Amino acid sequence: MTDTFDVRTDADPSDEETLVKPVVAVVGRPNVGKSSLVNRIIGRREAVVEDVPGVTRDRVAYDAAWQGREFTLVDTGGWETSVSGLAAMVARQAEYAAETADVILFVVDATVGITDTDEAVTRVLRATKRPVVLAANKVDGPMSDSDALELWNLGVGEPFAVSALHGRGTGDLLDALLEAMPGEAPRESLEEEGGPRRVALIGRPNVGKSSLLNRLAGEDRVVVDSVAGTTRDAVDELVELGGKTWKFIDTAGIRRRFRALQGADYYATMRTGTALERAEVAVVLLDVSEPLAEQDIRVVEQVVESGRALVLAFNKWDLLDEDRRYYLEKEIDRQLARVSWAPRVNISAATGRHVERLVPAIETGLAGWDTRISTGRLNTWVKELVAATPPPVRGGKQPKILFATQADSRPPHIVLFTTGFLEDNYRRFIERRLREDFGFEGTPVKVSMRIRE
Ligand code: GDP
Repeated sequence: MTDTFDVRTDADPSDEETLVKPVVAVVGRPNVGKSSLVNRIIGRREAVVEDVPGVTRDRVAYDAAWQGREFTLVDTGGWETSVSGLAAMVARQAEYAAETADVILFVVDATVGITDTDEAVTRVLRATKRPVVLAANKVDGPMSDSDALELWNLGVGEPFAVSALHGRGTGDLLDALLEAMPGEAPRESLEEEGGPRRVALIGRPNVGKSSLLNRLAGEDRVVVDSVAGTTRDAVDELVELGGKTWKFIDTAGIRRRFRALQGADYYATMRTGTALERAEVAVVLLDVSEPLAEQDIRVVEQVVESGRALVLAFNKWDLLDEDRRYYLEKEIDRQLARVSWAPRVNISAATGRHVERLVPAIETGLAGWDTRISTGRLNTWVKELVAATPPPVRGGKQPKILFATQADSRPPHIVLFTTGFLEDNYRRFIERRLREDFGFEGTPVKVSMRIRE
């Protein structure tokens, strides 16, 4: 296994396909009403704390949604204050925004009109390839034709007249933002939400999959979930466990009577990938009576790569003697260290020992897999972490983490927006700390960066 086994970082700053949730950066000179507009868009949920006098406005990123589409809203006001001159400062912020955002929300103050600073910002924005949506704020009545014309003349498209204070026009503005966002990233076609959760029971031949399934579901169970009207040959079984119904994926690939027809080993190997695709959580069965094999590790790796939750079930525990137990622990330490976050159960399919512990382990894995951390909470956390342990200097420069957002769950995917490359070690450190503070038990976590060099 490589060093980057579970921290798959996308060091390529152009790799934006990985980000499911688009980023909208709010740009504009001070006092045009950026924060009010941010508050209006997010419904004042997260920004409330910042209205308290004396609390510095250091939070920059917020979770927002419109018409069911989620996005991250970023207020660039706090960045790069060392640059002297208002125009230069705002231009730098615009530049940052252009590098990190999918869409730029450019705010001007319609009661003041276009200033030199606005024009400086416009030049920066036009030079970028990012779509820009222009908001003319503080418009409480209809806009005059001459005002509208002046705004059109900025050359960044249609001006949307809004009142952040009263909410006027913000619906149209949000519609325009939505339209400017990159197309919805294709989500993996997980099956119907809300149904029984889907479990893949996998492992190399003879680890005891069939025995465990028999123990859980019963030997003579009829196949119950063949999907009518499809040609899909995978057959699932609904199994009642711990008071809940679970869908075990592709049990035809596990059950002996089917395997006899297909050739056991071939069948087992070929089916793992497709079973994982349809599952939410994988229970990897390992045989403790034999040394962990290369093939065992490969199956575990396959689960991590597929981004599914993972439970390790050590089977045939009834065959374990003291001697073997010693070696087993060594093997686990050596070969499974990278998935130390996976819940473990020691079971015997033959005797039924501790089989009931599978369900809580599966539930733990799924809970980690489902975890969502709000952007606000994540950024407070990142800020504290970076203050205590800043990223190492690289090429004479100290990379900054501008903000972080959880772009996706199932599995959790954290994106760090940075001003420079973060070393592998530091990203692993972040992942470790994420796991310490937020759990993520039983799930792979993806930590990637978007860099503004
Ligand atoms: P599969 O290929 O992963 O489905 O493995 P099987 O369920 O066919 O089991 C392979 C062999 O291991 C069979 O002979 C089982 O009886 C045996 N076996 C499975 N689980 C246990 C267990 O917990 N203890 C013992 N002693 N034997 C087991």
